[in-house]
Amino acid sequence: MSKQYSDINWNKTRIQSSLDFTSPGKRSGDLRLKYSDNQTPLGYIPIPAGVIINGTGPTILLTGGVHGDEFEGPISLVKFLRETNVDDIQGRVIIFPAINAPALNASARVSPLDDGNLNRAFPGDPNGSPTQVIAHFVESAVMPVCDVAIDLHAGGKAYWFSPCSMATYDDDPTRQAIIMELADVFGCPLVWVMGIFNDDRSVNGAAVRNKIPSIAAELGGTGHVSPETMKLGEQGIRNCLRHLGVLSGEVELRKEPATFFKIVDANQTVYATHRGLFEPAFTPGDRVSAGDLVGYIHSISHIEEPPIRIEFPIGGVAYVRCHRGLVEHGEGLAVVGVESDNTGEEFERDSY
Ligand SMILES: [Zn+2]
Repeated sequence: MSKQYSDINWNKTRIQSSLDFTSPGKRSGDLRLKYSDNQTPLGYIPIPAGVIINGTGPTILLTGGVHGDEFEGPISLVKFLRETNVDDIQGRVIIFPAINAPALNASARVSPLDDGNLNRAFPGDPNGSPTQVIAHFVESAVMPVCDVAIDLHAGGKAYWFSPCSMATYDDDPTRQAIIMELADVFGCPLVWVMGIFNDDRSVNGAAVRNKIPSIAAELGGTGHVSPETMKLGEQGIRNCLRHLGVLSGEVELRKEPATFFKIVDANQTVYATHRGLFEPAFTPGDRVSAGDLVGYIHSISHIEEPPIRIEFPIGGVAYVRCHRGLVEHGEGLAVVGVESDNTGEEFERDSY
């Protein structure tokens, strides 16, 4: 017997689909993002979607491709859909591996249709630009029928993240406990514990407003995937679904406990003070102290001038590194995570 699952709230959105999201089985198809321009006057922009339904468990939303130049999530999710048997599921898994499909098709962080950054577009607008319509669809049509959301990211073309899961901040203790468990069992060496000031225009912000636990993950980046980051992404999805009782099998625990860190100070992001050529001096994942070298910025106009020395103003785990050779004044060069227990005092205003 399978329970009757609530359908996506199609009357709240202009996105349409012929895919059946309520009956038992495994299926895939399109979300239809209606967008009339010279290219598709009467057509739609396809956004790939998959669903696996069996038994009576919870509904889990898996998203990738929120940023279109982050590929571990999309590949992990299409592989999960293909490789998972219906009988291995107890519940419903809704999979949007390329939720910002216009951006992924352009291999770009933001959508070429409207320059929209989907992770800054929530809660979205049903009558807005394509990116706003997608955000509204996820927050107002899909999440209300979900119990947990997991959103997979990476550093994009410009950054490398030492792989970490991200625990959303939720002021409900029951949901926060589920979030922390999921962030841990995901299985990355690092867990970034988000604070109350994290940018709420994000997928995790949408989940908090829907009162469902959510985590995200940053699985490497620099516009490519590697065997190591793919393994983390694929295992992370399976571990979380097994922990929730939705996927058969045992959670594969890490041998070493994860390191939990936070952003508690504006100085944890280190920015370029000048335009120039960036020569980094650290490896993502390094433990650094205040005064350690981030790298040098070499002038490309005054080539006899000594390079600008950039130092870490605060110690911790240097988990993000810029992978651009030419950087602009104000560009982020590195981010440091600080191991901290001061829940609720976190500083960070960003979401990635
Ligand atoms: Zn991202």
